[in-house]
Amino acid sequence: MSAALTPMAPASVVPEPIVKANDIAMHFDVSPPWLNRVLEKTGRSILRAVDGVSFEIRRGETLSLVGESGCGKSTVARMLVGLYRPTRGNVEFFGRDLREIDTASGRGLRQELQMIFQDPYASLNPRWRVADIIAEPLRTHGMGGKAQVLQRVDELLNLVRLSPADKVKYPHQFSGGQRQRLSIARALATHPEFLVCDEPTSALDVSVQAQVLNLMKDLQRELGLTYLFISHNLAVVRHISDRVGVMYLGKLVEVAPKKTLFAAPRHPYTRMLLDAIPDLEMTGRARTPVAGEVPNPLNPPSGCAFHPRCPHANARCRSEVPMLKLYKHAAGESSAACHAVEEGRI
Ligand code: SF4
Repeated sequence: MSAALTPMAPASVVPEPIVKANDIAMHFDVSPPWLNRVLEKTGRSILRAVDGVSFEIRRGETLSLVGESGCGKSTVARMLVGLYRPTRGNVEFFGRDLREIDTASGRGLRQELQMIFQDPYASLNPRWRVADIIAEPLRTHGMGGKAQVLQRVDELLNLVRLSPADKVKYPHQFSGGQRQRLSIARALATHPEFLVCDEPTSALDVSVQAQVLNLMKDLQRELGLTYLFISHNLAVVRHISDRVGVMYLGKLVEVAPKKTLFAAPRHPYTRMLLDAIPDLEMTGRARTPVAGEVPNPLNPPSGCAFHPRCPHANARCRSEVPMLKLYKHAAGESSAACHAVEEGRI
């Protein structure tokens, strides 16, 4: 099981964790149809999209998950809002097992957990007016009569810096950034505590991304929200996160407070990801950009899955899976899953 990160702030000011992922795994059976398997004598193919991930998210903080496509970050996001049921492990929300979400007693959990999706064009029904789109979760959960629902729609439009007059419009009458504001308004309708944001700005123009990120930060302050933020863009992650988790082939390989991670990355993969950011300040510092391709997740490398791409790999790396462990160093504390860090080689 992966080790959870111990936060750095003094105990008296550390808010309690509201979300806990306990050794969660999500395996998909992607085997060919049984007849092909019989004819070609192939076995079952299991895709380990997420394989033993543990972390906590404290009230009011933003934990970001980063990594290349296929690393499992979006699968973790879906498990945290109950869209996927983990193959192994469990997710706790305020101490309650998320598997309760499908039971009568756990129905209230759905109001507390909401998700903002990547594509504001695909996630809003083009045939519905804005009022109906934002009101849908309220009606689904039976929250208020007609007048209260309309009043809440106006409140939500104000909250995301749009006008109540916009509620009669259709999604195609808005820009990409405005549509993502509508998605945020809909996600906030049921007064959730926790929002999972799956690449919420990656479909937007760069000039609009900062506006949406700043709105999300303002809303977090105003409403006391807690975020899990999924992104492949380290500049975005640097802007919005308190802590960052780096994923590679279904596992967490490093977790650290944002400042520590960007100032002193421990894991070779994190170092390579940071080195891949364009040097706009033209510091001229030496860089080792990410080399090679992500291996086939159906047939991951033995030992440390990063070893074929790692400049520090040795025989132990090829045979033994590294565990996530907490390290104290000059720049702070980080958890890393790396034999070279453990052996003091890097
Ligand atoms: Fe590289 Fe070995 Fe560390 Fe994996 S465990 S990142 S191969 S040094």
